[in-house]
Amino acid sequence: MNASDPRIVAGVTLGALQIGAPLDAVDHRILLCHALGLTRVGLITQSERMLTADEAQRLSALVARRLGGEPVAYIIGRREFFGLPFEVTPAVLIPRPDTELLVELALERLPPAGRVLDMGTGSGAIAVALAHTRPDARVTALDVSEAALAVAARNAAANGARVRLLRSDWYAALDSADADNAAAGTDATFDLIVSNPPYIASGDRHLSEGDLRFEPAGALTDHADGLSALRRIVAGAASHLAPQGWLLMEHGYDQAAAVRALLSAQGYGDVQSWRDLSGIERVSGGRAR
Ligand code: GLN
Repeated sequence: MNASDPRIVAGVTLGALQIGAPLDAVDHRILLCHALGLTRVGLITQSERMLTADEAQRLSALVARRLGGEPVAYIIGRREFFGLPFEVTPAVLIPRPDTELLVELALERLPPAGRVLDMGTGSGAIAVALAHTRPDARVTALDVSEAALAVAARNAAANGARVRLLRSDWYAALDSADADNAAAGTDATFDLIVSNPPYIASGDRHLSEGDLRFEPAGALTDHADGLSALRRIVAGAASHLAPQGWLLMEHGYDQAAAVRALLSAQGYGDVQSWRDLSGIERVSGGRAR
């Protein structure tokens, strides 16, 4: 029994449950499907079916978690990105649809059998989407978080994507052990470097709102002015990019000009920004000389 939604009791029909739920209708439907092991279509065709006592208990627990603010993706442990299913845990950022722009720009620039590096891969969303779409690509993905790499490894395996995973604080592992990496079959030079780094400034109010409260701080904020991770990525990319190789980075809604300035100052060519579906400059990049 759940005080927050007294209608979730044995005997109520699945159809009736979906009217006037205390949650966003889509969130509620996703939790209902998860609690009952039904697809969206199953939910429609079984709208007359009645909830069992077990199911009522399961659903109540999920709804209570959502009402407590937990993101739906963490509650069900899953989120789709680039049309692929990804496991997500609180160790990784929940993949955003905005980031599909970065994947599309990368796919347009990846040469045949190209080498690509994804820095701060988290769930592996970007790297796995690239490797899945382009099985010829040599994809390396790094992250400083061991827990994130474990999630990324499962996502690569589940999606049949070949991704080399590396624990590294930005370029550190690539720089410190070039010979070892070569021996292990890991590239140290790339045709393309992509990243969706932490870019929210410390103290930004968004960090204490909504889903972000539950996401790993290290994936969201640089604990500084929001640009420090982007600066490190730009500074180190030149020595890891092949001539004419592209560096593409996602950033915050108000950071495009600053990121273009970083790229230009480091001598990149073709420096530009691209807008996401909401019309916000969301990705900036440039080309190594
Ligand atoms: N796009 C995310 C947000 O604003 C932040 C992700 C990131 O810092 N890389 O919710």
